[in-house]
Amino acid sequence: MDTKLAHHVNLKAKNGQSVEICLKINPRSRRISLKIDSKNRQAIATAPNAQSTQAALDFAQSKIDWIVAKLAELPSQQVLEIGSYVPLRGEKHLIQTALKGRTVHIDDSSQPLKLMVPGRQDQTAAKVTGFLRAAARADLSRRVKAHAETLNVQPASISIKDTRTRWGSCSTKRNLNFSWRLVCAPPFVLDYVAAHECAHLLEMNHSKRFWAHVARCIPNAEPAKQWLNTNGRALHAIG
Ligand SMILES: [Zn+2]
Repeated sequence: MDTKLAHHVNLKAKNGQSVEICLKINPRSRRISLKIDSKNRQAIATAPNAQSTQAALDFAQSKIDWIVAKLAELPSQQVLEIGSYVPLRGEKHLIQTALKGRTVHIDDSSQPLKLMVPGRQDQTAAKVTGFLRAAARADLSRRVKAHAETLNVQPASISIKDTRTRWGSCSTKRNLNFSWRLVCAPPFVLDYVAAHECAHLLEMNHSKRFWAHVARCIPNAEPAKQWLNTNGRALHAIG
């Protein structure tokens, strides 16, 4: 590859969602360009030289709706293997082999952020999924506790599942269920779903009263709802 430089820049979509763009300088290209890298599920903006990187980013920003739509359309499953990326709390993590230690862990000492996975490579997907489930349980337990206090309610239990149709649910026995995939989304999205299910402990419907309870926890839930509408399919493609 002739690319002399590549780094990642976050642009903002109209719904407030952060979209990571890979910015490359390639002296062989004659003009700025934009394309979707479906394997790594990212947009690549290319500039012919350092002087035109801002123009390339401006161009990507002007096409942000197109980028968001294209990324959401990507149909293939995102494989969890060494060398691929997985989103965690809204940030891409490169899956790498851990040479030391026995547990999956995050290395945030340099960019890109990394998820370090020890052991045999044929177990990478299972280990990453296990790590994400545990992270989802930790984050959701913490946010449910906070929202339950705000609403003065007490859930019977919290379960982490791989539900394909719903991000969360609340049973008549006051059990809250959540999809582990929420931990891949930005934290404000997981926070909203936690508040939504806690509010169902007071109102088992989507009435005005229900949404008033949600608003006591999350004053503006719209960005999170829009994020799930736009990116839900991509979350379900993980693993
Ligand atoms: Zn609901």
